[in-house]
Amino acid sequence: MAGFDAKSLLTWFSKHARPLPWREHYRPYEVVLSEFMLQQTQVVTALPYYNRWVKRWPNWTSLAAASEHDILNMWAGLGYYQRARRLLSLAQHLVSNNIEELPDDAETLMSYPGLGPYTSAAVAAIAFNKVALPIDGNVRRVLSRYYKNSEMSPSKSQDEFFENQLMPVMNRIQKRRDLAQALMELGASHCSPRKPDCENCPLQKSCAMSDPQEALQYPTKKERRKSEALFVSYAWVEKNGHWLLRQRPDKGRFPRQWEPPQVEASTEQLSFELLQQALPQLNLKLVSKQRRDFTRYKVMWCAFNVKVKVNFKLEGYQFFDRKSVLNLNLVPVMAMQFKQGVNPEDNA
Ligand code: SF4
Repeated sequence: MAGFDAKSLLTWFSKHARPLPWREHYRPYEVVLSEFMLQQTQVVTALPYYNRWVKRWPNWTSLAAASEHDILNMWAGLGYYQRARRLLSLAQHLVSNNIEELPDDAETLMSYPGLGPYTSAAVAAIAFNKVALPIDGNVRRVLSRYYKNSEMSPSKSQDEFFENQLMPVMNRIQKRRDLAQALMELGASHCSPRKPDCENCPLQKSCAMSDPQEALQYPTKKERRKSEALFVSYAWVEKNGHWLLRQRPDKGRFPRQWEPPQVEASTEQLSFELLQQALPQLNLKLVSKQRRDFTRYKVMWCAFNVKVKVNFKLEGYQFFDRKSVLNLNLVPVMAMQFKQGVNPEDNA
């Protein structure tokens, strides 16, 4: 098997690397923030969030002093809110232990809160220019095509195979951070999932793929589990301009986010019946239905409303006025629905 053509890739990267703000100084704080934001999110979407965040919290110390409420507000719209909470925990851990900066090797980084194997390798390589190979979806695709690695991906043995190929190359070169980023960037550009542009790819001469048609077969996909249908019925219970909410548990979906009374079931009818059982003798009126597809579930959200008398109570729930509801970190679909209006005529 031919060695990896780092030279061609680095030459291409030096000409085509996007001028991203965290690439100006490679400050560890900024690199960590970019890596957290870019998980499951494209650069173009994350950039305005990144710029606003750095302006408000330019370093670990300022971030550690922020409240969870403020950081979640700043993150609103990016999704996967646990990323924001993990970032805050990391900042608080550093500040409370008087640690001025993160360590520079991937293994030690993994012992810090919120830093898994991928982020630790990315920070070691990109922020500190160390020998470490961050393998995200883009890098996995490039390497499994380049080496014609047909293993079901992702897998531990596949990662080890890629590391065995790339680590010696990284050891030999100075521009390790560039190599790690060039692999990511190539996966986001020429070596894309559906339209590989092999003809103009800097790795074309040494890549194992004979043409784009062959490249499309790699990496071999794991068989997808069929997504299940899930029906969520929830009710905006209103008492004199105040709405009934509770905070979700620490674990599971939407941890610690706020929601009105809600139930989940496998059919729409059943979810409505369960909601009616949870709120007996209340006359629930349908406000709206919204469908969202996630990896494991196709979810239908059915929103209802109902007005209740002054003495109404529900264990575990509290009433909040409109301004407070808008300031709380609600489950995103519910937050959007609340803003649109909670009366049937609001959505007519
Ligand atoms: S030659 Fe094609 S398959 Fe190989 S790395 Fe480049 S774009 Fe990907």
